[in-house]
Amino acid sequence: MSARDHDLNEIREAVAKLCATFPMEYWRETDRERRYPTEFVRALTAAGWLSCLIPEEYGGAGLPLAAAAAVLEEIQKSGANGAACHAQMYIMGTLLRHGSPAQKRDYLPKVARGELRLQAFGVTEPTAGTDTSSIRTTATRKGERYVVNGQKVWTSRAEHSDLMLLLARTTPREQVQKRTEGLSVFIVDMKAALGHGLAIRPIRTMINHATTEVFFDSLEVPAENLVGEEGQGFRYILDGMNAERILIAAECIGDARWFIAKATAYAGERRVFGRPIGQNQGVQFPIARAYMAAEAAALMVERAAALYDAGAPCGKEANMAKQLAAEASWQAGDMCLQTHGGFGFAEEYDIERKFRETRLYQIAPISTNHVLGLPRSY
Ligand SMILES: Cc1cc2nc3c(=O)[nH]c(=O)nc-3n(C[C@H](O)[C@H](O)[C@H](O)COP(=O)(O)OP(=O)(O)OC[C@H]3O[C@@H](n4cnc5c(N)ncnc54)[C@H](O)[C@@H]3O)c2cc1C
Repeated sequence: MSARDHDLNEIREAVAKLCATFPMEYWRETDRERRYPTEFVRALTAAGWLSCLIPEEYGGAGLPLAAAAAVLEEIQKSGANGAACHAQMYIMGTLLRHGSPAQKRDYLPKVARGELRLQAFGVTEPTAGTDTSSIRTTATRKGERYVVNGQKVWTSRAEHSDLMLLLARTTPREQVQKRTEGLSVFIVDMKAALGHGLAIRPIRTMINHATTEVFFDSLEVPAENLVGEEGQGFRYILDGMNAERILIAAECIGDARWFIAKATAYAGERRVFGRPIGQNQGVQFPIARAYMAAEAAALMVERAAALYDAGAPCGKEANMAKQLAAEASWQAGDMCLQTHGGFGFAEEYDIERKFRETRLYQIAPISTNHVLGLPRSY
């Protein structure tokens, strides 16, 4: 075992220990009530896991992406749902790479200390959907401020975040050569903005995801909150997508491992026709297939994270990791439900909840694959 594996195992053990203090009933209850798991997010923050990617000079642990992936995988593997807070890990990449020294100094230490939550990511819009370059939210420069107008949808955790990373159009689409130009990224102080040009409306969904619609009505954002260069926002968001995909893929691996462990245990103990159901190859084979798919996808996640941490190009691997891991978790979820028969539908087994939760990753964040050089669909 390498020193790196050893460190990751230590991280996994520590995270598993923390997760064990939140019993499954906690997750059932928050899911049932569509309540944000504030206590869990606080505990993760206090233990420093949500800021593990922040460099040490800003108060974080300065760990590589592979470590953040291990944290999220372990959360999912324990049966919990890290979607309540995973965005902080990938949103901050944009700030780390493109933020000014002053922005990093102002925000990162507070995020690391848990005084500021950086959990909201405002990209998707109702009319643009997957076609991010056609977003309609505008930010118009007026002196030392930008005035923001428009609407976002699926802005998750907006009610439980202090800051939002917002993508808006700063130059009209007709005035740029490429439609991916003229978009900019801002840090929005949501607490100050609420009721002063920012309104949030929750969307109830099939999972407990604290997702919302966000409306901007002449919201003023100080010009100093622009991240990087005006007009380059699309590139910044794309840059951050590799980290996002790798981290979400790691969550899917955690889900898959949870489903497989749960199904294996049940197949060994449930007796029908006088023998454990797991003695039937019709029950064994789907478990084995789900296991193989998850382990193969896990290798791709590891490879993508290693390339990312080495500063090497990893777009292809990050995409493949996300796609393979999301498929593996869904396959494992379906297998686990089937293995449990009718009991899989009962809330107390947690399978129906995890089944709903892991389905999201077939849809968000969007996974595209241009590796083969086929004609692009956009
Ligand atoms: C619970 C939840 C949380 C989310 N959280 C956030 C968040 O925090 N921040 C944020 O910005 N966004 C968030 N999203 C948005 C998410 O990233 C989008 O839903 C996703 O990008 C798809 O966009 P859409 O829903 O508008 O689908 P559409 O773009 O309308 O697509 C509908 C279907 O058509 C397919 N499709 C579209 N275009 C093509 C094409 N060219 N070729 C083939 N198929 C195509 C899509 O894959 C999809 O299956 C969240 C979504 C959900 C459901």
